[in-house]
Amino acid sequence: MTRFLSQIDLGQFPSPFALEEIHDYLDSLSAGDRAAKAAVDIALHDLIGKIMGQPWYKIWGLNRDKCPCTSFTIGIDTEEIVRQKVEEASPYRVLKVKMGLDKDKETVEVIRQMTDVPICVDANQGWTSKEQALEMCHWLAERNCLFVEQPLAIDRHDDTAWLRDRSPLPIIADESLQRIGDVRRISEAFDGINIKLMKSTGMHEAYKMAILARALGMKVMIGCMTETSCAVSAAAQLSPLADYADLDGNLLIANDRFDGMHIVDGKITLPDTPGIGVTLL
Ligand code: MG
Repeated sequence: MTRFLSQIDLGQFPSPFALEEIHDYLDSLSAGDRAAKAAVDIALHDLIGKIMGQPWYKIWGLNRDKCPCTSFTIGIDTEEIVRQKVEEASPYRVLKVKMGLDKDKETVEVIRQMTDVPICVDANQGWTSKEQALEMCHWLAERNCLFVEQPLAIDRHDDTAWLRDRSPLPIIADESLQRIGDVRRISEAFDGINIKLMKSTGMHEAYKMAILARALGMKVMIGCMTETSCAVSAAAQLSPLADYADLDGNLLIANDRFDGMHIVDGKITLPDTPGIGVTLL
């Protein structure tokens, strides 16, 4: 990241508003480095918003009352740890469960002994056959699950399309897509996409991806990696466009240097401050 950031020269552009040209320039320097490009993009968005005196959700014409609830992640773990995590997650109105190991059903059963809140399932490419994935989708649909994320490996496009045609639950792409160029191909096999700023090179392309997915009739999810409140708050500006949000990465770190969006009663709550809405702690 440092090597990429040290080679860029934004002085050649007339203003931070030249986002389209700046992104073309960043992409001309390397094919990857998506998180480093996202850092530049998020800083530019914050600056533009501050120059305009407006938060990004308003610049995009979005209504912050429409921010979705975010899910809170329960990892693959022992029964005792799963119970502890479900207790910790009591302020959240949606749980996200990581799957793809042999204890999948046990984990859901432990959670269902404790709470009826809806569950999102992330299989992380972990199910090995389309038949097993379909059986799991039916089983999960009977247990108040909302959708299944990335059930099969990224090279199993045709099997995922087969599953999507039969599954009672929406199938959402995560590892199968990175950037806007992937969205149309993905729409043949998935019902929706999980957009993450660290994959999309930031807010500029993430917004376009959300609009394209909607135009293709797909569901939109806004997710994150393990990130500070800086990146999570930038992603949250887009969240009124999303059906689902998984923006809990900042809750999983001990060295967050920013204050920004908050989760209030399980719901993403955006501050009414210009830019991406963060302050340095
Ligand atoms: Mg995922």
